[in-house]
Order: sequence, then structure tokens, then C-alpha cells
Amino acid sequence: MNKSAVIVGGGLGGLFTGAILSKEGVKVTVIEKNATVGGGLQSFSRFGEIFDTGMHVIGGMNPGGNIRRICDYLGITDRMHLKEIGPETIDLLYFAEDKRFYRIAKGRNEFVESLAASFPDQRANLVKYMDAVYKIVDGMDMFFLRPVSDFVPVHSGDFMLPVDSFIAKYISDAHLRSVLAYANPLYGGYPGKTPAFIHALLTVLYVNGPNRFAGGSYLFAETLRDFIEKHGGEVVVGDAVVRVNTENRLVTSVITRKDREFKADFCICAIYPGSFFPLLDDASVLPKSYRTRLDQIPVSYSAFTLSIKLKKNSFRYMDYSAYYMGRYDRIWDFGRSDAGWPLGFMYMTPPEIEQGEYASKMIVTAPMSWDYVKRWEDTCVGHRGKDYEEWKRMCAERILDCMTEIYRGFRDCVEAVNTASPLTIRDYYGIKEGAMCGYSKDCNNMILSQVPVVTKVKNLFLTGQNCRLHGFGGVPLTAINTCEAILGRNYVLDKINGFEKGL
Ligand SMILES: Cc1cc2nc3c(=O)[nH]c(=O)nc-3n(C[C@H](O)[C@H](O)[C@H](O)COP(=O)(O)OP(=O)(O)OC[C@H]3O[C@@H](n4cnc5c(N)ncnc54)[C@H](O)[C@@H]3O)c2cc1C
Repeated sequence: MNKSAVIVGGGLGGLFTGAILSKEGVKVTVIEKNATVGGGLQSFSRFGEIFDTGMHVIGGMNPGGNIRRICDYLGITDRMHLKEIGPETIDLLYFAEDKRFYRIAKGRNEFVESLAASFPDQRANLVKYMDAVYKIVDGMDMFFLRPVSDFVPVHSGDFMLPVDSFIAKYISDAHLRSVLAYANPLYGGYPGKTPAFIHALLTVLYVNGPNRFAGGSYLFAETLRDFIEKHGGEVVVGDAVVRVNTENRLVTSVITRKDREFKADFCICAIYPGSFFPLLDDASVLPKSYRTRLDQIPVSYSAFTLSIKLKKNSFRYMDYSAYYMGRYDRIWDFGRSDAGWPLGFMYMTPPEIEQGEYASKMIVTAPMSWDYVKRWEDTCVGHRGKDYEEWKRMCAERILDCMTEIYRGFRDCVEAVNTASPLTIRDYYGIKEGAMCGYSKDCNNMILSQVPVVTKVKNLFLTGQNCRLHGFGGVPLTAINTCEAILGRNYVLDKINGFEKGL
């Protein structure tokens, strides 16, 4: 295809879209405001360690997995440094309320059995619940990279149920309902609002086998960047797009902070749409109702992160992710600011490429509402004031107290701690309120949260976590949707399936 595309934003969405388009001969330019590409894939160096920022556990990368198949098609799988989580335990949960641990096992039957060990009278219900989870996902062509034949997809009756009602439909034990909802912060879950299909997708991705990046998630961002460059594209870093020029209701070029102009046949917005619209020289090319609608969609909650350097040989490497949870009845309250903090968090020891018996670092991700940092929202990095620093120190202490509940000598293992708040995420990625998962999905009004990748401007497209699904398991699928909006319906899916058949 003898065409060109300029992509605004070099996160997972911008890079994947760029990689697929450049493989199809489109001349791609990706523009990233930060000094390094990756967005949520970025890592940073502190205390002599590499810490990842927004990609700790990834789904779909085991052989046959959907994201793995896209990477196979691009020919980049061999360059990825992955460590499979488990193999037996994928997640370990601790509920402080009754000091109980729950083990979550990999594999559909093993998942059921691992929970039935704690809730024997719920075994039959767990089987029905898992059948329902898999039925929801089986109906999603895109999850399996199947070419789409229906214009109006038909889904199971559970698809659009609120997630908490979905779990309660199959599980009668109140504690087990909460245990099954443990991963809801990973999709910004809200009771009565988050659609069941999001929960089902995440569950299947994890039960089929999650992975972690070894040596830093930034290596994968670099792989995608190399791919684009080897296919004749350009990846510009350290230069934000500040204006988008239009003419006759088409995007003609983008202008960067360093006053460079990039012209292209297509423009792809791979950033939060609410940050993109003000860059248009003539906002009226997009209907006001559309811009207002996208501006008003609530975003998911954010997170407070601790990046901990551990003392040498003090804490064993964990080949699973672990969760500290406070109370069972607070499992859906992570997005609230009036329920105390932290209500719970995920902690994990990121693997090195050559991982030994002991971990050198730990990352703690504790969901947090934007309300907690609202009073500093007009400040910028390095200039937030002493009260902010003191508040962050207090948050870190609370997390360390919780960790000490599980591991009595934990504080003795800690050499140094770096903290990041929702403000850090907002300023780093340019996402409203530091949202972890982009727009908050709402089963009561799906039109609000299923943003199409096409726009009224014929050569302007959207991609990234705000369009459909967030995360490693979702953003590459939307990248395919965006590319197919340019290349043709099922074009990329047919290529992937044809490649696998040796065509
Ligand atoms: C703390 C945290 C933990 C997470 N953990 C996981 C996890 O374990 N597993 C998982 O699958 N997902 C996880 N996620 C979600 C995941 O990181 C995101 O869904 C994903 O990275 C989104 O990709 P994206 O390309 O849509 O957006 P982003 O990664 O935000 O990329 C957007 C890019 O655009 C750039 N940009 C913004 N404005 C401009 C401009 N004007 N000009 C040029 N560039 C611009 C930004 O700097 C950024 O690099 C986590 C998120 C957070 C915040």
C-alpha cells in the first residue's frame, strides 16, 4: 500500500498499530512525547534496578494465545523475553479480615479445584460459573482472531450483565463471590456497571496462562520500534504533537513541540481522545456532540505504586502474583475515596532474564481514586510541594504495614522505596485522572464506552485502550480493528490466519 500514516502516541496501541501497518507497506511515523517509547510499557531505572511502570502481568502469550499469534505473524515472538507465571499457582490471595489464603491455579479444571479446596460445597457452582465464563468468551470472534462475518454480533445472555450480578448468578457463597472478584482492579471494576464480558476475558486470559516480561517491559517496546524502523517507518521520541492541521474536513499534517511538521495520508490518535481533540486546529471537523460525549465518559480509577529495591538474598522470588485484600465486603470498592485506603493491592517480584532464587525488587500496585490527589492536580512533576511528599511517604508506610502482616520481617528486606501516584500516571502517559484502564466500561450504556475506531474525519482514526479493551490482552486487538478500518474488513485477520495455514 503506497500510503503514509502518522501516529500520535508511542504506547502499546500506537506501536502495535504502527507495526501492523508498516508490515502492510504503509509508511508509518510514530510520535511520542516522552524520551522513550512504550507508554505503559515504559520502564525506569532507580537504585540500580529496572522497574516497569504499567505492564506487570500479560495475557494471551502462551502458544496458541491470541496476542502470541499476532506476534508470530509479525515475526517478533522470538525477540520477547517472557517468563510464564506459575506453572501451578498463578495468583495467591490473602484476606486480612480472616487471615485466610487462597491459591488460584492455572487451567480451567485446576482453577475450579484450587477454589473448591477452600469452598467444597461450591464445586458444582464453580464448574457452572467457569462454563459461563468460557461461553461468553467463545462468542467473541476477535478474541480468537476469527474473521468477523456478522455485522451485529450475537452474544450469550450473560455478556452484558453487571459483573457482580454475573458472579452472584452462579455462586451462592458470599466469600467465594468476593474471592472470584479479586482481579477486578485489573479492569477497573465497578459493581452494577462493569460488563461481565470484561471479567470473562480477563479470567480466560489468566486461567489459560499469564506471563511476565523478564528484564523489563521496555524491551518489548524497543522490539516494536525496531520492527517499524526496519519496515521503513520512523519513531520520533521526546517531541509531543501540539497541533493537528486540517483542510476540507481531512487531517493534512501534525506539528510537534519542536516545530516539526509531519504530513501523511492517515492520522491515528493513539492517546487519550480528550487530550487529542484540543490539538485540532479546527475542532468543528468533529461534531461537538461527539467530542463532548467522549470528554464526559468517566475514566477508570488509578493506582499508587511502590517500586521496592530488596536487600540482597532477603526475599525469595515469587513465580506468581500475590494480592493483599482487606475485607470481603469491600471487594468492589477500589474506585471509592470514602472507604479507607488501601483496601487491597497486588504485589509481585518482576523476573530478570536470568532469575535466581532471590528477588532483587518488588512492585506493589494499589488501586487509588483520583480524589486522593485532586488537591495537587494543578502541580507538575518535581514541584508538588512538601505536603505531597509527606502524603506519599504515609501511603508507602501503610502498604509496608500490610506487607508486614503477611511477612513478619518484611521491612528488614527493604533497601529503598520509590513511589508514584495517580498524578505521576496522568503526567507520564497523558491520561485523564491517571486512569489505569482508560474509559470506564458501563454495561448500562455501552455506546458510551465502546468508542469506534473510525471518526467523522475520513482519514482520522483512533486506537489504544480507550476504544475497546485496555491492557496487553486488549490493545493489540483494537490495533487490528484500526488497521482494518484503513486496509479493509478482515484484511489483517485473513493475513494472520493465512500465515498460520502457510498461505
Ligand atoms: C499502574 C498500572 C499498571 C498496569 N498494569 C497492567 C498489567 O499488569 N497488565 C496489563 O495488561 N495492563 C496493565 N495496565 C494497563 C496498560 O498499561 C494500558 O492499558 C496500556 O499500556 C495502554 O496502552 P495505550 O497505547 O492505549 O496508551 P499509553 O500506554 O498510555 O500510550 C499513550 C502514549 O502517548 C503518549 N502521548 C500522550 N500525549 C502525546 C502527544 N501529544 N504527543 C505525542 N505522544 C503523546 C504518552 O506519552 C504515551 O506514551 C496498567 C496500567 C497502569 C497505569
